[in-house]
Amino acid sequence: MLFDRIEDRLDNAAQRKVAAFIAERADEIFEFTCDLIRTPSVNPPGDEVAVSRVIMDRLAKLGIEDCSIAACLPDRPNVLARVAGTSPGRTLLLSGHIDTKPAGNMYEWKTDPWDPVVIDDELIGLGSGDMKASIAAMIYAAAALRELGEFPGELSLALTADEENGSQYGSKWLAAEGYIAADVCVIGEPAGVHEEWESIHLVSRGAALFKVVVIGTQMHSSISDQLPAVNATLKMAELALKMQGELRDYLTFDDHEYCRFGPTVNVGVTAQAGVTYGVFPGRAEFGVDIRTIPGMTEEQVQADVQRFLDDATASDSELDATLEWFLMVGATEIDGNDPIVQSLADASQQVLDRTPRLDAFPGATDAAYIQIAAGVPCIASFGPGFLPRAHSPNESMHKDGAAEAAMIYALSALDYLTKEHGTTA
Ligand SMILES: [Zn+2]
Repeated sequence: MLFDRIEDRLDNAAQRKVAAFIAERADEIFEFTCDLIRTPSVNPPGDEVAVSRVIMDRLAKLGIEDCSIAACLPDRPNVLARVAGTSPGRTLLLSGHIDTKPAGNMYEWKTDPWDPVVIDDELIGLGSGDMKASIAAMIYAAAALRELGEFPGELSLALTADEENGSQYGSKWLAAEGYIAADVCVIGEPAGVHEEWESIHLVSRGAALFKVVVIGTQMHSSISDQLPAVNATLKMAELALKMQGELRDYLTFDDHEYCRFGPTVNVGVTAQAGVTYGVFPGRAEFGVDIRTIPGMTEEQVQADVQRFLDDATASDSELDATLEWFLMVGATEIDGNDPIVQSLADASQQVLDRTPRLDAFPGATDAAYIQIAAGVPCIASFGPGFLPRAHSPNESMHKDGAAEAAMIYALSALDYLTKEHGTTA
C-alpha cells in the first residue's frame, strides 16, 4: 500500500507534518497529473500556454502566492514559484519541463495520448513520466513546505518550456536572463532506465550534434557507367558504416565512474541524399549524435571527428566529405558529497524503503543550462517514471509515482534545508 508504515521511518514532527500533508492528498496529486496530461503541450511545435495556466491555477489554489510567468515569447511561458522559509538558509530549486514530445505514431497508441487511463496500475498518457507526474509532485512538495511554515531557506520551482526541443525558450533563456539562482537543483526527469526510482543521477550526459556532407558527381544517370562518376549516396553509406564502426576509437575521453559505457555514437540519426529519378546523386548528408560524458569538450570532439574524416578521405581518393558542426551541449556532474545527495537518499529510504544507487543519466537535460550557464549544481534526474517508456507510444508509469515523488521531494527538501550542513556553498 502507498506510504504503508512510512510513519515508522520518520524522525521528527516536521517530517510527520509534511508527510501527512502529502499522504492526505495522494489522490489529488494523481488527479492533477491527469489534468496536466489532458492539457497538450507538444513540442515541436511548442506552446506551453494552456499547461502553464493549469499550473498557475493550482499554485494559487494551494496558496503559493509568489509565482510568476517568465517568457521570452508569449506562447513559450516558464512558470517560476517560491516558498520562502522563516529564517535565512539555503535555496533548493526543483525543476522540470512542462512540454512533451509529439505523440508520434498514433497507430501504435492503444489509448488517446491526452486522455489518461489506468490499466494494470499503470497510468498511460503522453508526458506521464516525462514529466508531468514530476511537475505535479514538485508543486505539492512546495505546498507541503508552505503548510509547514517554519523552516530555513527557500524552496523554489522552475517549471520550464521547450526542454524537448533544445531549451531555447526554457532553461537556456532563463539562465541567460538571470532567473536561475539556487544552491542546488533537482531535475525530476524519470529516474529509471531498468526500473522506476532506480538511481539518483549525478551526471547529465552531453550531446554533440553534427552533419557530414558527401559530394559526388551530379549528372544524367543514363551514362553513369560510361563517364567517371562518384555516387554520393553510396559514398555516404560507406562512410556512415565506417564511422559507426571506427569513430568511437577516435574520441578522447577518460573513464568515468558513473559513465561505464563511455560516450554513445549514433551515426545516421538523419540522412538525405540525391535529387530524383534520372539524376545521378551528387550530394548526400547524414546526421550524427554523440552522447558525451563529463570531461569531453566541444573543441576536442570536433577535432576528433575531423581527424576521422581526414583519415577516411586520405584512404579513399573518391571521397569528398565535409564536417558541418551544429552544436554541443555539455555534460554536467554534481559532487557526490553534495548534501542534496544524502537528503534524496534518506527520503527515498523513508518513502520507498530502499535507497537508489548513484548513476549517470544517459540523456541530456536542462542541467546543461541550469548548471553550466547559471552555475547551480544539478541532480540531473531524480523523478518518477521510467526512461524507456518516455518518447514512446503508450507512454506510462506506475500510478503511484506522482504521489511518491511528492513525498520524496517534500521530505528531501525539508531535510536539505533544515539539516546542519556547515557553511553554504
Ligand atoms: Zn524529459
